[in-house]
Amino acid sequence: VLKIDTLTKKFGSRTIIDGISMDVTPGEIVCLVGPSGTGKSTLLRCVNGLEDIQGGRIVFEDEPVRAHSKKIIDVRKRVGMIFQQFNLYPHLTARQNIVLAQVVVHGVDRRSATERADELLARVRLAHRADAYPARLSGGEQQRVAIARALATNPHMLMFDEPTSALDPETVGEVLAVMREIAEERRTMLVVTHEMRFAAEVGTRMVFMDQGKIVEEGVPRELLAQPRTERAQRFLQSIR
Ligand code: ATP
Ligand code: MG
Repeated sequence: VLKIDTLTKKFGSRTIIDGISMDVTPGEIVCLVGPSGTGKSTLLRCVNGLEDIQGGRIVFEDEPVRAHSKKIIDVRKRVGMIFQQFNLYPHLTARQNIVLAQVVVHGVDRRSATERADELLARVRLAHRADAYPARLSGGEQQRVAIARALATNPHMLMFDEPTSALDPETVGEVLAVMREIAEERRTMLVVTHEMRFAAEVGTRMVFMDQGKIVEEGVPRELLAQPRTERAQRFLQSIR
């Protein structure tokens, strides 16, 4: 699905992503972990064409990803993105949030879009909150609406950027449960997370990044139990 080849991203003279190469194949659930400021969010933004890049190549389903190119729209249509801060439209209800992208970006007619929205709201167990505005929803509920919205257009890959870090501890579990269900359908997922239990149970691969480089990668359980590099050991100890 996704090929990243010696990607370099700079902000001014600072190198944020320093020659990263990484592939994501269909059905993989890649968990991206690492210290703050390492470039994890920047990497996801590059994949979505939200940042121009200074070196290397990103190819999504045989299409080179370039910010500002006309074809970037086609990539974004096939990639669902879920952010830490939910990013729902505050003036639209849960249902309307899920209808909008389908109608505007994909040209789905309003009736089918509404049906699909209701089906997805039921799947994330929010059928009873369809008419609520984001401000009236808990963080966990808002994030589940955001996930339903991302799923509405049947993306070929989902990217999550710390989807549970802005949530109260009590609501983290409900969001992880929904993510687990999506993972079980073998959807391709790239997940930035600090939820190591989720990564161990659901992830097919873990990639540990530090200072713009991939330091170590492997099967999540193995990497967590026995990190090979000192850098990963220190990081994993610090978050336990
Ligand atoms: P966190 O775990 O805290 O979310 P991260 O690994 O996602 O961290 P990034 O948000 O990708 O890290 O940021 C990597 C570095 O790039 C940081 O030093 C940040 O200050 C810098 N950076 C990010 N966006 C910009 C920007 N638009 N302009 C300049 N510097 C930026
Ligand atoms: Mg980040």
